[in-house]
Amino acid sequence: AAKGGGRAQYRFYSSDLQDGAKLRRQIEEDLRDAILNNELRMEYQPIVDAKTHKVVCLEALVRWPHPERGSIAPSVFIPVAEDCGLIKELGEWVLAESCRQAVEWPAELRVAINVSAVQFARADFPDTVKTVLSQTGIAPHRVELEITESVFMGDYGQVQKLFKRLKALGIRLALDDFGTGYSSLSYLRNSPFDKIKIDQSFVRGSPEKGNNNSAIIAAIVSLAEALDMETVAQGIETKDELELVKLRRATHLQGRIFSLSVSQSDLLERLEAGDLTYEPLGPEKY
Ligand code: C2E
Ligand code: MG
Ligand code: MG
Repeated sequence: AAKGGGRAQYRFYSSDLQDGAKLRRQIEEDLRDAILNNELRMEYQPIVDAKTHKVVCLEALVRWPHPERGSIAPSVFIPVAEDCGLIKELGEWVLAESCRQAVEWPAELRVAINVSAVQFARADFPDTVKTVLSQTGIAPHRVELEITESVFMGDYGQVQKLFKRLKALGIRLALDDFGTGYSSLSYLRNSPFDKIKIDQSFVRGSPEKGNNNSAIIAAIVSLAEALDMETVAQGIETKDELELVKLRRATHLQGRIFSLSVSQSDLLERLEAGDLTYEPLGPEKY
């Protein structure tokens, strides 16, 4: 009986795995079509100045409203795109579309675009950025690329060369999800980042729960200050979290307490009304 049970369990496990692989292949096929058929959309989430709550930048986040499966999260399909070689096309579309749409915003607003480490590692990446800048006509200082610590898994000298070529274009660089990867201070030593984004896991949960988040945020902010970099506290949801990151003097704030990501048309409507300041929403609003 024990043997049979074991086999049944194995069969269940193995068919489960096959379902996983099948689903992945399906996502891969659908994603290829979605890119071809222009089914992906960009949305934009405001990043506000911590003192004035005025929007200074918008983070571009890719959306895939799948016709049958509903909305599929980027945390699901970006890794698939990285594995199956679609990330180059997807990344180029994201870059071009975000810059094209940012040109329609007031000129003082920047756009922050996420770049996958796989996309970043390609030697032709700076040329791609250069082409998009000239084709869309966006001022380079309005474009910020968000990369994560995982880019440093590649050849260090190569990564520094890429940074140099990108900075030479006049764009800005942000280090995303800081503190969650293989954080090493040596990454900050020679890297030309303009901004550090504090991962939302440090923002989440009040200090009374006995974690060290508050001290960690304070340390990141003072490190960034000394390096002349801005800090964004991301994923702020509650008044308590907002109070904490303000107390710790993060220079910029992002999270659903101000606004989740919105479509270009909703954004334009607000911007055209001259409504550039975001008030924290009460709990009933989110
Ligand atoms: P990320 O760059 O760290 O983006 C922040 C994520 O937090 C976004 O999730 C955003 O919608 C979400 N978020 C914003 N405010 C709040 C909040 O108050 N609470 C919570 N719980 N979440 C909040 P999203 O849009 O699902 O994106 C997930 C990740 O997928 C991103 O993390 C980024 O790594 C990747 N991603 C998204 N768009 C793109 C893209 O266009 N290209 C690439 N390469 N990666 C992208
Ligand atoms: Mg990001
Ligand atoms: Mg993140």
